[in-house]
Amino acid sequence: MIRERHLFGPGPSNPYPEATRALASPLLGHLDPEFLRIMDETCDRLRTVWGTDNARTLPLSATGSAGMEAAFVNTVHPGDVVVVAVNGLFGQRMTDVAARCGAEVVAVEHEWGQPVDVDRVLSAHPAPAIIAAVHAETSTGVRSDIAALGAGKGDALLVTDAVTSIGGIELRADAWGVDVGYAGTQKCLGVAPGLAPFTINDRAFDRRVEKPRSWYLDLGMLGGYVGEAGVRGGQRTYHHTAPTAMVASLHAGLGRVLEEGLEAVWARHQAAGDALQAGLEEMGLELFAAEGHRLPELTTVRVPEGIASAAVRAALLERHGIEIGAGAGAYAASVWRIGLMGPNARPDAVLLVLAALRDVLG
Ligand code: PLP
Repeated sequence: MIRERHLFGPGPSNPYPEATRALASPLLGHLDPEFLRIMDETCDRLRTVWGTDNARTLPLSATGSAGMEAAFVNTVHPGDVVVVAVNGLFGQRMTDVAARCGAEVVAVEHEWGQPVDVDRVLSAHPAPAIIAAVHAETSTGVRSDIAALGAGKGDALLVTDAVTSIGGIELRADAWGVDVGYAGTQKCLGVAPGLAPFTINDRAFDRRVEKPRSWYLDLGMLGGYVGEAGVRGGQRTYHHTAPTAMVASLHAGLGRVLEEGLEAVWARHQAAGDALQAGLEEMGLELFAAEGHRLPELTTVRVPEGIASAAVRAALLERHGIEIGAGAGAYAASVWRIGLMGPNARPDAVLLVLAALRDVLG
């Protein structure tokens, strides 16, 4: 029997109980009318959390990284210039994925812990086909200004990674000029990992690659899978077997989020993050992400001098059932990442993680 964990790392987070219960519901066939209704409603709910009216908004059947691949494989034509803002691990991953899709990548490197410098990104190339950035860099705990990139993108498409922002902080894809966005279920949406909420507007879809190198992630073919209006009269066609249990779980998790209200959920994440960050500073610990740009849902903190990072994380898990994350990349041993996402964005979780850290640090 596995003991219950407090998943206070960079994700996955503990799911909402509604999302967990849905996994135990009777399994539906992927063309069952009841499942099609759940899928339609899930896409509607995703439109709300994305802040979009895009018809092509759906849960891709894979994790966030597949969302990233879908974004680039469908939009990058060979030799296209893709400007990528790199201020952490996931911006770096975007450069790799875009290059594999045939892009001429212009990486705009930033010091880790800093937000994206909008002016530098917008002036990195005179006529990029795509500008790409991560909204919430999970590797560093930093939020970047996607609206400012959207306002200055010109003719370029704006691709946005919202894996750690969706359902946790303000996200308004249409108002901010996001053309293509991908996310994950396992962070602030409070659902187990396994799906990638995805959205693409007409502007980007009209410029898409006719026959992308990926069959599975070909958005032209996926339209029939979600009964997209205008695709064979909205009729469902088999593309792949939808992971029906996971979609039902996402449907329930989104239901929970929307019942509370998006703005209330954002405020709850902000309050928990503020309290955690204040508490860590009171303990004499130093926060890593640049002040004024810190994510409430994912806090990065420097490991104090002389403390073995891994030993602390192991003790938290063993003594208190608490998982926190190591740092990413070059900061693996010198930074901890503490996530309070979804149902964990609560005052009791703040107190628990602070008390446990105090206990372990002695
Ligand atoms: N982008 C960001 C910002 C992430 O935090 C993650 C995962 O942590 C990913 C992309 C990749 O998502 P996944 O691990 O679900 O494939």
